[in-house]
Amino acid sequence: MKNILFLTLIFCTKAFAGMQGTPDLRTPHEKTKGNYTATFQETLAYYQLLEKTFPEVKLTDSFGQSDNGTKLPLAIISTSKNFNIKELKTSGKLVLMINNAIHAGEPEGVDATMMFVRDILTKNDYKKLLDNVVILIIPTYNIDGVMNRGCCSRANQNGPQEYGFRGNAKNLDLNRDFIKSDSKNAQTFNRIFSAWEPDVFIDNHVSDGADYQYTLTYISNELSLDVNLNTYMRDELTPAINKLTTKDGFEMCPYVETKANIPDSGLVSGHAPSRFSSGYAALFNCISYTVETHMLKPFDKRLQSNYSFMLALLINLHKDAAHILTQRSIAISSLMYAKEHVITWAEDSLSYDWINFKGYEAAYKPSIISGLPRLYYNHEKPYNKRIKYYNYVTPGIFVKVPKAYIIPCAWSGVIDRLKNNGVWMTPLIHDSIIEVEVYTITNYENARNNKPYEGHYLHQKVTLSTEKKSLKFLKGDWLINTDQRRMRYLMETLEPQAPDAFFAWNFFDAVLQQKEYFSDYVWEDVAADILEKNPALKKELETKKLADPTFAKSAQMQLDFVYKNSPYFEKTVNRYPVYRVVR
Ligand SMILES: [Zn+2]
Repeated sequence: MKNILFLTLIFCTKAFAGMQGTPDLRTPHEKTKGNYTATFQETLAYYQLLEKTFPEVKLTDSFGQSDNGTKLPLAIISTSKNFNIKELKTSGKLVLMINNAIHAGEPEGVDATMMFVRDILTKNDYKKLLDNVVILIIPTYNIDGVMNRGCCSRANQNGPQEYGFRGNAKNLDLNRDFIKSDSKNAQTFNRIFSAWEPDVFIDNHVSDGADYQYTLTYISNELSLDVNLNTYMRDELTPAINKLTTKDGFEMCPYVETKANIPDSGLVSGHAPSRFSSGYAALFNCISYTVETHMLKPFDKRLQSNYSFMLALLINLHKDAAHILTQRSIAISSLMYAKEHVITWAEDSLSYDWINFKGYEAAYKPSIISGLPRLYYNHEKPYNKRIKYYNYVTPGIFVKVPKAYIIPCAWSGVIDRLKNNGVWMTPLIHDSIIEVEVYTITNYENARNNKPYEGHYLHQKVTLSTEKKSLKFLKGDWLINTDQRRMRYLMETLEPQAPDAFFAWNFFDAVLQQKEYFSDYVWEDVAADILEKNPALKKELETKKLADPTFAKSAQMQLDFVYKNSPYFEKTVNRYPVYRVVR
């Protein structure tokens, strides 16, 4: 009864909207005509109004919540009024996903997207762009941060008057959390992304760093994609978007990551690490743009440029949808049957293109604070000059793709994350002895001088030794074949040398600690007995004493040497607990 009443109310509201004319669809920003970004409550209310007004809009919050306990809304815009993922996918619709306020202090994407959706649904010219495209929108991803509103946390940003804070409720930067998924926000995002498998993804941000003339810059994930998608993005899609945004007065430039301290030194791009949204999207062969509007430009101009980008992208997606879907499908299939996979990349510092850059002359003058020389950009001296753009990478570590991985069910934190990311896996139905390739972690470093980074002590420069062993696995341990759509996600999270592997993020640190040891006075006699029965080991000990004076003078090192070469030493210390079933 309650449901029928509810449905009747919705029907009446929609009918009323039609009969009495369109309701007031101005966004909170438009109503203030100023330097204002919507709060979370206003944003949610606006999408609820869109849902009431247009049958092409559906809001859902069924995927999960944010760390502060608020359900995370997702808006789906589908002009066929069909919201079934499978049916939309099989009918050949391209899925564009837009993410806003991951950094809640960088909010114009929130306001620009509300206007963008409203305009698509009310302007016939725009609406037809959705004939072959479905849009998913996370109106505010970092809800916790958006609710933590204040005037000033972005010291260098030109408006709006109030905005949210970068960290979420657990002070995590959500744009570093896509793999480790410490936040509920990221776990929810993982579920949305794996359910919908978007073809194209935009993450809306505001820049930090240098000063220059552009309002609109972008980071593309082209260097992290399959070669055909890379070529399409670089040679066709990005130039076509730029042509349209330029007409709107927003010529684009690649994100200004400078080679040295000022743009004249050249701009640098790179392979996107998967802790970031652009790199995460690349794991699924998804085209991604991180929109970065310039922090020193006025809020309303930034907002307009963000809107212009989204519209220009949509126009091109409508035109190229079939091509993109085909190229993605080819990329995914070729990965599923790849024999090896590259898990690390480095900037190619010798290769570059020349690009035109519209900047301001950089100079130095004495600082009022320190009296020392300080950098400033002279707006009286704008320039347009050719600078180097380092947009090439070279492959590092190649890894042979195993037939499957086996993960003991004890590692539930990792298993949960694989499930959230749509990895297909099966539990062993019996205890089984299986021949596997086993990694031992032989060395690693802690990044950032052992300081915590996003709640972790990130590992890097990992070295391994490999051996084959027949090991016993238990009923319920997980077998994960690599010939699946998530192959790349698996390789780059489970291979411990990958920079954003679960190993790097400390998920397996427990194996790095030895659990048992010996008491010297007892071990002395046992070790002597072992050497007596093993002349080869005794000889090895004597040779080592001769070669290494420090070793020769240390009773402890010698006892340890015998221990490590005895049956008493635990075999599993430093053994990486994800096993490779090789072809
Ligand atoms: Zn940002």
